[in-house]
Amino acid sequence: MAVASDHADTTKICSHCDRAIPSSNIDLHYAHCSRNLEKCKICDDMVPRKHADEHYSTTHAPVSCSLCNEMMEREILAVHKGEKCPKRIVTCDYCEFPLPATDLSEHQEVCGNRTELCHLCNRYIRLRERIAHEVTCNGVPNNTAEIPRATREAEREHAARRPPPPPPQDFSTRRLLFTIAITGIAILLGSLLFKENQPPVN
Ligand SMILES: [Zn+2]
Ligand SMILES: [Zn+2]
Ligand SMILES: [Zn+2]
Ligand SMILES: [Zn+2]
Ligand SMILES: [Zn+2]
Repeated sequence: MAVASDHADTTKICSHCDRAIPSSNIDLHYAHCSRNLEKCKICDDMVPRKHADEHYSTTHAPVSCSLCNEMMEREILAVHKGEKCPKRIVTCDYCEFPLPATDLSEHQEVCGNRTELCHLCNRYIRLRERIAHEVTCNGVPNNTAEIPRATREAEREHAARRPPPPPPQDFSTRRLLFTIAITGIAILLGSLLFKENQPPVN
């Protein structure tokens, strides 16, 4: 006997799908249910027999990551794509450029070595040290890296004593050539206009 009794008289439990079915329908239901439906071994859902393969492939079959093509259980795909996939797009800590996770450490190795001026202490700070620097920066401008004052003053004096640069010697020649060129273009344009304005010869 396929039909088990429920404690209520109005419904009975189908032994194939374990659902409560109105007593009056139970025989018809059981015939239909046992012929057409089967219980999925993975999720316990009742699935039409002819769609069982489709149910498996769309619900339970391993899937491949669309980014790295690795096969994995469907349940972990979202976590994989968000946190683990080597091809997922991440952004550089220093320049916020988006790039695949596999390239990140190599990029940051270079990117973090770039320097940026700290406006508080006037030092150039590596980007990888910037956060630590911001905590410890004492805001005292750093002049030690610059040229010592004595040298700078000596240089200024030296510059003052230097003779003025010589005046350009070919100025007049260049100007003459320029004038000739302009005149030539003017004559050429004039002759073209003159030709176009001539009345047609019949
Ligand atoms: Zn059933
Ligand atoms: Zn299933
Ligand atoms: Zn992946
Ligand atoms: Zn970067
Ligand atoms: Zn600083």
